[in-house]
Amino acid sequence: MAVCAHCQKPLTISIEPDSEDEDADHDLPMGEEPETLPDDVRLSCGDHFHWECLLEAYEYSKCPACNRSIAASSPSSSSAEERIIVDLNNEGGLQQDIDIAPILREESYLRAYPEERKCRAFLEFCSEGDHRAIAELVKSCGEEVTAEDEDGEVMTEAVGGPSKSADEVLRYQDPIGDMASGLHAAVANGHREVAWLLLLLASEYPEMDFPALVYQEAGTLGVMREDQTGKVDIRSLKDAHGRTAEDVARGAGVVWQGWVGTGRLAMPNGASRSNGRSGVATTLRG
Ligand SMILES: [Zn+2]
Ligand SMILES: [Zn+2]
Repeated sequence: MAVCAHCQKPLTISIEPDSEDEDADHDLPMGEEPETLPDDVRLSCGDHFHWECLLEAYEYSKCPACNRSIAASSPSSSSAEERIIVDLNNEGGLQQDIDIAPILREESYLRAYPEERKCRAFLEFCSEGDHRAIAELVKSCGEEVTAEDEDGEVMTEAVGGPSKSADEVLRYQDPIGDMASGLHAAVANGHREVAWLLLLLASEYPEMDFPALVYQEAGTLGVMREDQTGKVDIRSLKDAHGRTAEDVARGAGVVWQGWVGTGRLAMPNGASRSNGRSGVATTLRG
């Protein structure tokens, strides 16, 4: 039977009975074996890994065990990004020929920059259209956050340095995703409620031009616009191709009808942020 090429252990993971409920007394009945689930990533070279072991050992596009390339070229010529096709067997069952390259990229990035965890989550919520999660995330930025790790031990968020402020999270641009902002991500995926929320929290779009429902929802979620003086307006952010969210909306179809040209997704009068106000955006654009 195959074992993990990294740690040489069987390709299963045992479920900690106490990991689910935090407050219960965790005692395993006498003599009961911990339950196990499959945890098997089979690479194209034939080597097997635990998911966590692969994440830990993975570098670039080579198998950590045999050093053979595990990258497959993309079928669409438009995308230069390579794919890493594996057979994945875990608690979700066996999935064959799936591309885990996006997850590996994301995970490697988070390992290098753990302080950007909130920013990464923010972008994901924007893409998924989860405006409630965005509100919760924004609110959590001001708090001293503690969380329990898998063993139930309380951790503070000290990992990787100071956590980001709400303003930083809202204006995050994806260094491994074409410098897209949350607004770009929401627009590309057709999520108007997210776009409204971002406009409310991170732009100077006139307050009187918001639908009343947007205010109601924001009130329910416990978030509201703060003073925007001196802050970057999210509508002015451009991706690595120099596109505003409005440029993305033009290509995204009818869902943004009525938005393009209204100053909601780009600065009115074509006034985009001039170079120099934010060194970061300027440097990374080129
Ligand atoms: Zn392993
Ligand atoms: Zn290999």
